[in-house]
Amino acid sequence: MAKRIVILGAGESGAGAAVLAQKKGFDTFVSDMSVIKEKYKNLLNERGIAWEEGKHTEELILNADEVIKSPGIPNNAPMILKIKERNIPVISEIEFAGRYTNAKMICITGSNGKTTTTSLIYHIFRKAGLNVGLAGNIGQSLAYQVAECNFDYYVIELSSFQLDNMYQFHADIAILMNITPDHLDRYDYKMQNYVDAKFRIIQNQTDNDAFIFWNDDPIIQKELSKYGIHGHYYPFAEDKKEGLAAFVDQNKVCFTKPIDFNMEQEELALTGKHNLFNSMAAGISANLAGIHKECIREALMDFKGVEHRLERVARVKEVEYINDSKATNVNSCWYALQSMRTKTILILGGKDKGNDYTEIAQLVKEKCCGLIYLGLHNEKLHQFFDSFGLPVADVQSMKDAVNAAYQMAQKGETVLLSPCCASFDLFNSYEDRGDQFKECVKNL
Ligand code: ADP
Repeated sequence: MAKRIVILGAGESGAGAAVLAQKKGFDTFVSDMSVIKEKYKNLLNERGIAWEEGKHTEELILNADEVIKSPGIPNNAPMILKIKERNIPVISEIEFAGRYTNAKMICITGSNGKTTTTSLIYHIFRKAGLNVGLAGNIGQSLAYQVAECNFDYYVIELSSFQLDNMYQFHADIAILMNITPDHLDRYDYKMQNYVDAKFRIIQNQTDNDAFIFWNDDPIIQKELSKYGIHGHYYPFAEDKKEGLAAFVDQNKVCFTKPIDFNMEQEELALTGKHNLFNSMAAGISANLAGIHKECIREALMDFKGVEHRLERVARVKEVEYINDSKATNVNSCWYALQSMRTKTILILGGKDKGNDYTEIAQLVKEKCCGLIYLGLHNEKLHQFFDSFGLPVADVQSMKDAVNAAYQMAQKGETVLLSPCCASFDLFNSYEDRGDQFKECVKNL
């Protein structure tokens, strides 16, 4: 009898996993506690895959040989606990898909910079003419592409939640951008649990693989001291140092291995220090894939950037408006503020994930000339920032936020939406928040 695979959660990853499972001959069943999107229902129906929505029927789930869990479902959800009680293995969609392809896997994780770096690598590989797919948190699921396409490379953005349920998966190139506190609510408020999840990106790697990471990250360094030095490490950092695979020397970004080449820092398409790191990580992985240095240079120069990440929206009455709605934690706002060249009115707030604003306190004092608190509950922001003596406004809609910023801003200043928080108190998603910001700015 065919083994039974049950998939919990029918979003992009769940629906893709179902398609692959069915194709591989498993008895496949999909169960989602909420309503399944029309698009995914059609996909499942077209292929005759059984599904349910609005419930989890135990008899149809607990008879599984293996369960594929959507990264959105916490490990302590009641149904997951029941599944674990019965010793049924729970894996992620990426783990499952990884079993059915021999393609080279380039995997990117970190607290910040994942999407930018993933998109940049995909851009370079495409430009070089490689047969490459983009997967993970962006675009189509890996499982769907493994079922339907035949790529030689996959560039995969991995969140800690996806990594949580990965065991045998092997990354040919693993990239760890940085580790700062995030999502601690899903990790029993223990930082080490979150660090362990991120480090799963290098599990199963051998000396034939590559591990690219930011050398100046104190948490990564501390963790690596437990592992010893390995030949397949490719660290990058801003300051020149022996052993780095990329660094800056006299305004040149230098790549050292496997091929030695450099380019002017100011030629990089993406600006700001965080994007220097993203460009370095992407450049090293392209270098490792054997892409010609001229092609890497050109691709790092003509990349168009990713929506909602330090995205220039418009200039209105000599004030620049920047959409960084994807800054859903304090560290990403730090980098955004750090890259501001003028006095800035910062729009921040939303659903707080246990934020400590101390990290941006100094930068807010140096760079900001006004603060707009955009959230359902702004008390914590008032408590932390009001004593700085800056003009503040308290608003509950994007329209009011943009109007307040418009009133406050003087010629030559910048209005930056970089909220430090998730968006779900007032918006459907960070994309919705960013789109509303852009719409309101365009209507000024
Ligand atoms: P992720 O996919 O990890 O959330 P993104 O590439 O979408 O990261 O960028 C999210 C935000 O994080 C950006 O708007 C920017 O402010 C900040 N950011 C981007 N890259 C980095 C980096 N390497 N280090 C720190 N912050 C970054």
